[in-house]
Amino acid sequence: MERRLVGIPASPGVAVGPVHLLWWEVPEVRHRIIPDEGIPDEQTRFIGAVERSKTRLRQVRERVEGSAGPQEAAIFDVQLSILEDAELLTGVAELIKQNLAAEKAFDIVMSDWRTRFARHSHPMLRERVGDLTDVHIRVLTLLLGLPDHDPIDVPKGTNAIVVTHDLTPSLTVQLDREAIAGIATDAGTRTSHVAILARSLGLPAVVGLRSVTTELTGRERVIIDGSTGMLAINPSDEDIAQYEQRAREEVAAETELRELVTADAVTTDGVAITLRANVDLPEDSDYAAATGADGVGLMRTEFLVLGRAAMPDEDEQYKAYTKVVSAFHGRPVIIRTFDIGGDKLPIGGFPAEANPFLGWRAIRMCLDQPDMFRTQLRALMRAAVHGDVRILLPLVVSAEEVHGARMLLDEAADELAERGVEFRRDVPLGVMIETPAAAISAETLVDGVSFFSIGTNDLVQYTLAVDRGNANLASRFTPTHPAVLQLIRRTVEVGHEHDIEVAVCGEMGSHPLLAFALLGLGVREMSVTPRSVLVVKRMIRSVSVEAARAAVEAALKARTAADAEFILAERIGEFGIVTRSAQG
Ligand code: PEP
Ligand code: MG
Repeated sequence: MERRLVGIPASPGVAVGPVHLLWWEVPEVRHRIIPDEGIPDEQTRFIGAVERSKTRLRQVRERVEGSAGPQEAAIFDVQLSILEDAELLTGVAELIKQNLAAEKAFDIVMSDWRTRFARHSHPMLRERVGDLTDVHIRVLTLLLGLPDHDPIDVPKGTNAIVVTHDLTPSLTVQLDREAIAGIATDAGTRTSHVAILARSLGLPAVVGLRSVTTELTGRERVIIDGSTGMLAINPSDEDIAQYEQRAREEVAAETELRELVTADAVTTDGVAITLRANVDLPEDSDYAAATGADGVGLMRTEFLVLGRAAMPDEDEQYKAYTKVVSAFHGRPVIIRTFDIGGDKLPIGGFPAEANPFLGWRAIRMCLDQPDMFRTQLRALMRAAVHGDVRILLPLVVSAEEVHGARMLLDEAADELAERGVEFRRDVPLGVMIETPAAAISAETLVDGVSFFSIGTNDLVQYTLAVDRGNANLASRFTPTHPAVLQLIRRTVEVGHEHDIEVAVCGEMGSHPLLAFALLGLGVREMSVTPRSVLVVKRMIRSVSVEAARAAVEAALKARTAADAEFILAERIGEFGIVTRSAQG
């Protein structure tokens, strides 16, 4: 019988397929004592699980080497060597000898190792915590007889719907697009990174379903509708037919929109808007360029790092940036330096933090690791030879950070000059406005800066103290909150006073209703998810800036985000544009 769950629509499109339940968390282990005579069998059971895990890891290694290359595959060598470590194996054997069940013995030893490594002063060793966690999960899964799922082990052509509690970006980048048709998660919101990445991969996704992993056994078929947030369990043939019809309609609507590819993004009162696309992976650049976008307003370079054990070197980065620059044939390409940290971590991770979103992320991490940062800056200045590259710094809160980045940029340029490599030194530098601090004190950030780009995902998160990835808070993630609208307005004013371009590259621009509010707040440049370029262009071509300004003036007087949204929806409705709720 069919059941339906409703979550948050995170990436449009309809997908039908078998469930691939991905359980990638350390399972809970009960204390279990075994009698003396059971000890030899328990030792054999443990060794058997270790050997099976190793066989499994070798298979995964081979597959990843084929699909992603030897560097990515090297992660699995680290994990194999953990399973061969004599100290680990004897540690577990000793505890089994003391009558502990194999799973409990292994759990105790691994938990201890993970804690020790997490506290280690050497960063290389701290990075191993992620590998230890993977091994911990893999062996316990076998010892406890739990369904044995590998996050990336889905045969091509399966059209599986990955169902999981929360898909970390590092797992997301390992998903094989030829095997997976969609994503459904308990956690997450529209602006969590899994949602952003799903949109960029063109995979339908429903997030914030809260309990989908416990509702499913892994043997079902489901439909997910990434435009409405619906997930139907074991749908009837009729339902499937109906949804397939919906999918065809969506394709038809997209075909109609494609007529706007070459049209100008100009409002009915003649104001031209620069409409760019966000690119998360270099492979997305052809699709993004085909939308007719005026260049790239945000390339999130951290997606080059996620899911990998080692940082890409200068040449690899240079090639990745050049690919995007070439796809846009001279149109501006704004590339953001690594925004690693928060929920965007490479495999192996970084030290666990109590408050990762308030932690060692983005520009902070880059300034503290100057070698890594200069490598990226050199790759960017080399790629700038091939087009109009501009560099964007994430999560800036102070002028010192801009100054520090500028110094490293100069040093990186000197290094390239010394090497005699072709590069461009005068690459424009911009800063992201993503915190109340940056918006309120935007004047302090203008020196040597050519542009601001407002990251509304983080700006809303930090202004309202609402975790952008927490499904329980999705209805409180309200970009139309008066505080958010005022901070954007203030940033735009400062930009105008100092002759600095102000763009918006957060998800707010991808939502027609919110993009209408941005027009009213004076924003003339937006960078949106590639799939939204034409929808937003249609909105721009249907409204006047005059009306948007009046609407936002009224919205700014509202006492609540909901009232403000209601006013905006009413005003944009006068132009025949109907939009869904902007929350979450
Ligand atoms: C933002 O915060 O709005 C933004 C564009 O950056 P990210 O979503 O990558 O944090
Ligand atoms: Mg951000």
